[in-house]
Amino acid sequence: MSSDRIVVLGSIVQDLVSYTDRFPRPGESVRGNDFKSGSGGKGANQAVAAARLGANVAMIGLVGEDMFGDSNIKGLTENGVDTSCVGKTKESHTATATITVNKEAENSIVVTLGANLFLTPEVADANSSIISNSKMVMCQGEIDEKGNRRAFEIARKNKVITFLNPAPGDANMDKTILDLVDIICTNENEAEFITGIPQNNVEDAKKAAVEMVKMGPQHAIITLGAKGVLLASKGHNEIEHISVDNVEAIDTTGAGDCFCGTFAAHHVAGVSMIDSIRSAAKIAALSVTRHGTQSSYWKLDEIKEKHA
Ligand code: ADP
Repeated sequence: MSSDRIVVLGSIVQDLVSYTDRFPRPGESVRGNDFKSGSGGKGANQAVAAARLGANVAMIGLVGEDMFGDSNIKGLTENGVDTSCVGKTKESHTATATITVNKEAENSIVVTLGANLFLTPEVADANSSIISNSKMVMCQGEIDEKGNRRAFEIARKNKVITFLNPAPGDANMDKTILDLVDIICTNENEAEFITGIPQNNVEDAKKAAVEMVKMGPQHAIITLGAKGVLLASKGHNEIEHISVDNVEAIDTTGAGDCFCGTFAAHHVAGVSMIDSIRSAAKIAALSVTRHGTQSSYWKLDEIKEKHA
C-alpha cells in the first residue's frame, strides 16, 4: 500500500476558448479576437492541483485516440501526475469544452464529454489494485455515477478514504452514493442540489452542511467563494467557519477544483481536517489571482517563495 497516494478517477477535457465581441446568432459566423486552449476537466484539474503541491497523485481517466488525448496526457505528466492508468478509447474522442467569451466576459459553453462517458464500473474494476493501494480516492460529478460508485466500493473494502466533489451538480443524482463517502465537498449550488435546502446565505449553507453529514459522510465541506468555507463533522455540534483571504479575484474558473486537490494533498500528508481546509482556502484564493484553470494553480516552490 502506498501510504500517501491520491488516486483521482475523473474527467479529462480539452478547453477551446474563443473571444469575440458578441455571440453569433444561429447560422451566423462572427470573427474571434483571440483564442486559447488548455487542459481541463474536474478530475484532471484536481489531480494537477494536488500534484503541483508535491503530492503523490495517480489519475484514472480516458481520452480518445487523437491529438487532444496525447496533449492532455502530456500535460498531466508534466505536472507530476502518474498517467499510467489513463487509457485511450476507440469508442469516442477526447472530451472538449467549446467556450465562447463575449465582450461582457459572459460565456457560452458546449461540453462534449466523449471518452469520459466510458469511465464505467468496469474501468474502476480494471484499476482496483491502484485504488485499493492508495490513501484517498477522489471522484467528481462529471462522469457516470456508476463508475464513481464502483471506485468507492473498492476503496471502502480497503479502508481507503473516499472523497466526493459532486460538481457540476445534478438534482437527479442518486444520493445513495453518499453512504460510501467519507468526505463530501460542495459549493453552494451543489449543496442545494443534494439537500434541497435553498442556498441564499451562510446560515442556509450551515443547515445544508449538517444535513449532508446526516446523509452519510463523516465530514461535509461547503466552499462559499470569498465568504469562507464551512466544515460539519459527525459527532461535532459546532460547525467550523474558516475565513478566506481577501484577494483581488481576476478569474475564479477552477477555484473549486484547486480547493479540492489542495485539501487532498494536505489531508493525505496527515494534516488535520481543519488545517487542510485552512491551507486549501489560502491556496485556492491565490489561484483566483491568476488567469486560467490549471495554469492558475500555484506550485509549492512559488508558495514558499511568496511566504519566504
Ligand atoms: P466553485 O469554484 O466550486 O464555485 P468557490 O467559488 O466556493 O468554488 O471557490 C473555491 C475556493 O476558491 C474558495 O473556498 C476560496 O478559497 C477560493 N475563492 C474563490 N473565489 C474567491 C474570491 N473571490 N476571493 C478569495 N478566494 C476565493
